[in-house]
Amino acid sequence: MKNNTGFSRRDFLQRLSALSAGVSSLPLAGYAGTELYQGEYGRIQSLVNNSTGLGQPGRKLGIALVGLGSYSTHRLAPALQQTQYCRLAGVVTGTPSKATEWMQKYNIPKENVYDYKTFDRIADNKDIDVVYVVLPNSMHAEYVIRAAKAGKHVICEKPMAIMPKECQDMIDACKKANRQLAVGYRLHYEPFTKEVMRLGQEKVFGPVKFMESSDAFRIGDPTQWRMKKAMAGGGPLMDVGIYAVQGARYVTGEEPISVTAQFSPKTEPEKFKEVEETLFWQFQFPSGAVCNSTTSYTAGVERLYASCQNGWFELSPAFGYGPLKGRTSKGPIDQPVVNHQAVHMDGVCKDLIDGKQLPNHITGEEGLRDVRLLQAIYRAAETGRKIELKS
Ligand code: NAD
Repeated sequence: MKNNTGFSRRDFLQRLSALSAGVSSLPLAGYAGTELYQGEYGRIQSLVNNSTGLGQPGRKLGIALVGLGSYSTHRLAPALQQTQYCRLAGVVTGTPSKATEWMQKYNIPKENVYDYKTFDRIADNKDIDVVYVVLPNSMHAEYVIRAAKAGKHVICEKPMAIMPKECQDMIDACKKANRQLAVGYRLHYEPFTKEVMRLGQEKVFGPVKFMESSDAFRIGDPTQWRMKKAMAGGGPLMDVGIYAVQGARYVTGEEPISVTAQFSPKTEPEKFKEVEETLFWQFQFPSGAVCNSTTSYTAGVERLYASCQNGWFELSPAFGYGPLKGRTSKGPIDQPVVNHQAVHMDGVCKDLIDGKQLPNHITGEEGLRDVRLLQAIYRAAETGRKIELKS
């Protein structure tokens, strides 16, 4: 009998007995991470994990990066040289010269290199467990759905997509394929961020009363896809404003009940023909907490501040690659400095190896919540009306 991963009990028992006999040449990462992660197999798998050291350093899932742009090149690939539970196993690129360069630099075998047309053949590649989609925002949905259909777990960069309907289609495709979907929310594994989540959600300084959560920078090349509405879905709100939305949500631990928003007048209209230049918004939360936010492509700010009944805390910088820095009304926040991308990918892959459901706050459902809020912020700014939000 095959389970819904297409993996039979007999296959499983054969592999189990091979494991207990100490056969080390089996492709453990592949089957531990993808084929045996749910139901009765999940339970037995945890026994296997305990007895063989699966999930320990040395047992790594193979990740394929889709899109070898700036984030893959300068952040994810270097981080994958530091990870304990995953490794860079393959790439998907439309540029042959990049394929050659990456194969040499990272020792990637030719059979693990795909272009956008051959991508679906990744289904037959047992060396790749997880597909990480690092493309312009408008392309996320297509490649996440194709990766799920190919039977791979997926990590998708933020924002998960442009419209909520795409997010739902991505969630549905992964569910149907019995694969897990994570969003590239690297800060959820970052120690300073986890500390402010704790301070806010556990009301260490009393209930949060008001907040500022803002993320903005001055953008360079005005011809890049981030400035094109069809590819980016919008301007700084889609790109970095999403971090400010996240900050407000993870400090309060609540979902906003209403939003008002305002576009600033464009000071560089030639540059910002398709997307907003600067945008402000205000969330109200069920507890009565309020949060004021700014995002922009014309000048920078990176701050997460919470004023509570009995004190305050803040991170600044709060959302970039770090080191993040924080303090409270009682003194500095002291936390270890980590590589954000490495701890994020390790966190996701450790759960996959252990056969666990990913925590809600980094799944597709979380990505969908944010995309709904981003669209509500645009609606509020466009109409000038307060938008009531359903959780
Ligand atoms: P980028 O422009 O540097 O790279 C985009 C890649 O997509 C390039 O390799 C490009 O060749 C490829 N591509 C394929 N088809 C394309 C097309 N039709 N038009 C344009 N490019 C095309 O972008 P990036 O900075 O690497 O961002 C990629 C994704 O990663 C975005 O969704 C972005 O929001 C996200 N990102 C996340 C973080 C983070 O901290 N989590 C940081 C940066 C970027």
